[in-house]
Amino acid sequence: MKRVYNFSAGPAVLPLPVLEKAREQLVNTNDSGMSVMEMSHRSSMFLDIINEAEKLLRELMNIPGNYKVLFLQGGASTQFAMVPLNLFSGSKKADFVNTGVWSKKAISEACKYGTINVVASSEDTTFSYIPELDESKFSKDADYFHITLNNTIYGTRYTKLPETGNVPLVTDASSNILSQVIPVSKFGLIYAGAQKNIGPAGLTIVIIREDLIGKAMDFTPTMLNYKIHADNGSMYNTPPTFAIYMAMLVFRWLKDMGGIPEMEKRNIEKAGLLYDFLDNSSLFKGTVAPKDRSLMNVPFLLPSDELNKKFIQEAKAVGLVNLAGHRSVGGMRASIYNPMPLEGVKALVDFMKKFEIENK
Ligand SMILES: *Cc1c(COP(=O)(O)O)cnc(C)c1O
Repeated sequence: MKRVYNFSAGPAVLPLPVLEKAREQLVNTNDSGMSVMEMSHRSSMFLDIINEAEKLLRELMNIPGNYKVLFLQGGASTQFAMVPLNLFSGSKKADFVNTGVWSKKAISEACKYGTINVVASSEDTTFSYIPELDESKFSKDADYFHITLNNTIYGTRYTKLPETGNVPLVTDASSNILSQVIPVSKFGLIYAGAQKNIGPAGLTIVIIREDLIGKAMDFTPTMLNYKIHADNGSMYNTPPTFAIYMAMLVFRWLKDMGGIPEMEKRNIEKAGLLYDFLDNSSLFKGTVAPKDRSLMNVPFLLPSDELNKKFIQEAKAVGLVNLAGHRSVGGMRASIYNPMPLEGVKALVDFMKKFEIENK
């Protein structure tokens, strides 16, 4: 069997042992005589799966008892609307930091329901850094403060969180959840689409502080109300059962690997290998301010579009795939989520070295 090194930004690489376990259990999950895909979501068999998923996630992320974990659908993009619909319960104001396409989409959705104050932006340099925040610009009476914790397209991440006082900090952690220790108690709400670092597409995880639940605006659709999902154990309607099962297997794998601190260590090593090479290369160039570099998404450029294209093609031919940058920025991007082994990054760096010698 041939497996490539898959640097896709999402849907992304999954741990091979997880895929193998799923294959082994595909037609007969946990000796039930049926596939998890064929089970009633209300069966005790499936309840065991979703309960284990939640228990493991709580353990891995050290989620305090006063937070609910919700297993939803609709992707991170649905959260762009769900967050304002549920959290605009006071001034109907929110502060945002604009760090790229996903922040902008979250802003334009929230604008439909309240007043948005963009406290800082890095748009001036195509979002190549995380802007410094001036606390005097924060709205003291905002219902929430929103950041995109890791910017998948540009390869930036926050290394320091804004101090928002009593204003709940909300974050889109789609592309770095589980990749590093995240202090959950510093946030009012964390959301993430699964297909980057959790499991297959179709599942969205929301971690929300209990006091933020139950204040949705009157016209909030039932399916977009956190309270409905919290009161029904994420079973108001049929949840994405197979995606939840896969996430549970990924959580087991993460625990076996030593948990998030161990993953963070590995991710720092993996990203460091790539950044070191980029910093010393005379042909390749990293695009991100060093202090804000992502551990998960590493964008880089060659001196011309022709060379970028050549690199992506030749890399693909040797089994290093999905290295093209996002369509909005071009160039290259290596996404190196948890399941990408160190060997995959080494193979990429070796290939880059060879490419540099051949194309100088
Ligand atoms: C991929 C991504 C999204 C969009 O996620 P969907 O699940 O496709 O809606 C939003 N935010 C970030 C940071 C992402 O990486």
